[in-house]
Amino acid sequence: MPENVPVLTIDGPSGAGKGTVSRIVAGRLGWHYLDSGALYRAVGVAASWANLDVSDAAALVRCTFDTRVRFADDSGKGLRVLVNEVDATEELRLETTGAVASAIAAFPEVRSALKERQRAFRQPPGLVADGRDMGTVIFPDARFKVFLTASAEERADRRYKQLKDKGVSVTIDGLLREILARDARDAQRTVAPLRPADDAVLIDTTGLDIEQVVERVLAIVAP
Ligand code: C5P
Repeated sequence: MPENVPVLTIDGPSGAGKGTVSRIVAGRLGWHYLDSGALYRAVGVAASWANLDVSDAAALVRCTFDTRVRFADDSGKGLRVLVNEVDATEELRLETTGAVASAIAAFPEVRSALKERQRAFRQPPGLVADGRDMGTVIFPDARFKVFLTASAEERADRRYKQLKDKGVSVTIDGLLREILARDARDAQRTVAPLRPADDAVLIDTTGLDIEQVVERVLAIVAP
């Protein structure tokens, strides 16, 4: 019964370290991992490929239903995300894709079209679900809920270092502006706005390294 399968939800704003922490925690627990942002990003990429107008809700909903997303770990290149069987891993990570995903995610119809797809990841022995509304909307009955935050400046700084390592040229000021704009859009939308579930444990990751955050999260699951 999926309802009996334990779920750990890890929500929070972009750049709080959710993705890295969730992947490591899922690996240590031996649980499945849902990167819900990747689903929104995949729809964003498919919508861009099809030249859809990102304000056309009906077209976006059709695109959401039509877009196949597959997480594959069999190429020797780490976890890849295939959108309609095309490897879109790099494109998915672009800031521009995040911005399109965030615009698309504001449509309630798109969110509900992705609901069951996300819930299907709840498989034994457990699931770590990373996103914005995992603890509030998708898995409200999750056994463990965490909300990760970090100051906007620290999140911009982390993103800057990641992108610089990859040779992408950006400025901290530009990233900070993008992060604040995305936070505002995610927090202010009427459907599933970004907020901690009432029963979530808040962890401020400002000044903490990844391992320190991982340990705090694991302590919640296995105190
Ligand atoms: O987490 P990530 O940055 O990959 O998510 C991209 C965008 O998708 C977010 O800015 C947010 O607008 C949206 N999203 C969402 N709900 C989720 C996951 C992501 O609205 N559960």
